[in-house]
Amino acid sequence: DVFLADKIDFSSLLLSETVQRGLAAAGFQRPSPVQLKAIPLGRCGLDLIVQAKSGTGKTCVFATIALDSLVLENPSIQVLVLAPTREIAVQIHSVITAIGVEMEGLECHVFIGGTPLSQDRARLKKCHVAVGSPGRVKQLIELGYLSTTGVRLFVLDEADKLLEEGSFQEQINWIYSSLPINKQMLALSATYPASLEEHLTRYMRDPAFVRMNPTDPGLIGLKQYYKLVKSHPLPHKIFEEKVQHLLELFGKVPFNQALVFSNLHSRAQHLADILTSKNLPAVCISGGLTQEQRMEAMSRLKQYKCRVLISTDLTSRGIDADKVNLVINLDVPQDWETYMHRIGRAGRFGTLGLAVTYCCFGEEENEMLAIAQKCNLDLHCLPDPIPPGLM
Ligand code: ADP
Ligand code: MG
Repeated sequence: DVFLADKIDFSSLLLSETVQRGLAAAGFQRPSPVQLKAIPLGRCGLDLIVQAKSGTGKTCVFATIALDSLVLENPSIQVLVLAPTREIAVQIHSVITAIGVEMEGLECHVFIGGTPLSQDRARLKKCHVAVGSPGRVKQLIELGYLSTTGVRLFVLDEADKLLEEGSFQEQINWIYSSLPINKQMLALSATYPASLEEHLTRYMRDPAFVRMNPTDPGLIGLKQYYKLVKSHPLPHKIFEEKVQHLLELFGKVPFNQALVFSNLHSRAQHLADILTSKNLPAVCISGGLTQEQRMEAMSRLKQYKCRVLISTDLTSRGIDADKVNLVINLDVPQDWETYMHRIGRAGRFGTLGLAVTYCCFGEEENEMLAIAQKCNLDLHCLPDPIPPGLM
C-alpha cells in the first residue's frame, strides 16, 4: 500500500480542482494508504467505516470528502462533524479550513462547550460545515439555533470513543434522530470494538469498510486461546488426540457456526465424517473440489444446513459467513498472516467470537507462541476444564 501511495497523487482521486489545490497548499502531496482507499468510496456517496491507527491521516479523509460535496451557494449546514473532545474538534476545524483554503466563501465553524452561545449563534447565520462536541451541538439544535435540515453528511470522528459505553451515546442518538433520513455517514476510529459495530449498524446503510493493517485491533471482540495436546510420533495419533479435544469443546461452548482449519487436506474430509457421525452436521471444502462443489458447501453453511465447515488454506480466502463465531485451528498455521486471516473469519466487524488453536507440546507450541508475539496477540491457554461462560 505504501508503495502504491508513493506513485499516486491526489489528482488520481477524482477530486475537484479547488480541493486539490487546497490539499497542495496544506502540504499534502500524496494520499496516505487510508486516504487512497477511503476517499474514492466516500466520494461515491457510500456510508463508510474507516478503521486505521491514529496518525494515519483519517482527518484528511473526511475533510476531503466533506469539502468536495459542498454547494457553497447554499448557506446552510451541509456537513456535521462530531468529535469526542473540544481539542479534537478544533483540530478538525483547522484541517478543514486549511484544505478548503481555495474555496471562496467557505464557512466552517467549531461549536464546543465553554464558549459563549451568542458567538455560536452569530456563526450559525452562515455555516457550511459545523464541527463540534456532542453536548454543545445537541444544545444548539434544541435551542433552535442550529438547523439540521440541510445536513447531507454526518461524520463521527473517533467513533469508538464517541460511542463508548457511558460516554456520548445518548447525545449522539438524539442528534442522529434530528438529522434528515437521506444522508451519508462516515465513522472513523482506531479500534473497532463490538459495541461500536452494534451502534453503527443501526445508523448506517450497508456501510463500506476500510480497515488498514491486518494485525491491528480489528479483532477486539475475538477471544483467542491455544490448547496444548500430547505429542506423538504417529501423526494420526496426534490427529485423534486433537479431535477428542475438539469434540469436548463443541460440547461445551454454545457456538453458532464454526470454521475448522486443517493444514492437511486429507484430514479435512476425515474430520467432516467424524463430526457428522456425532450429529454435528459438517461439510468439508478443499482445493480438490470443483468450484461448483465449493459453492454448494458454502451455501449449505450460509443456509444453516451445516454448523461446521472444515477447510484447508487453499479455500479459506473466499469464505465469508457472518454467523461464524468460532474458528478452530486444528494445527498451527504456517505463518502469522495465515493465522490472522483464519481467525479473522470470526469476530468480523468486531463481533464477538472465539478462536482456539490446537498445538502439540514442543515445536508446534513454539510456532504458536512466535505468532502470538509477532502479532501482539492477547492469547491465553484454554482453561481446563472449559468453563461455561467461555463464549
Ligand atoms: P488520524 O486521524 O488518523 O490520527 P490525522 O488526520 O490526525 O491522523 O493525521 C496525522 C498527521 O498526518 C497530521 O499531522 C496530518 O497533517 C498528517 N497528514 C495526513 N495526511 C497527510 C498526507 N496525505 N500527506 C502529508 N501529511 C499528512
Ligand atoms: Mg483522528
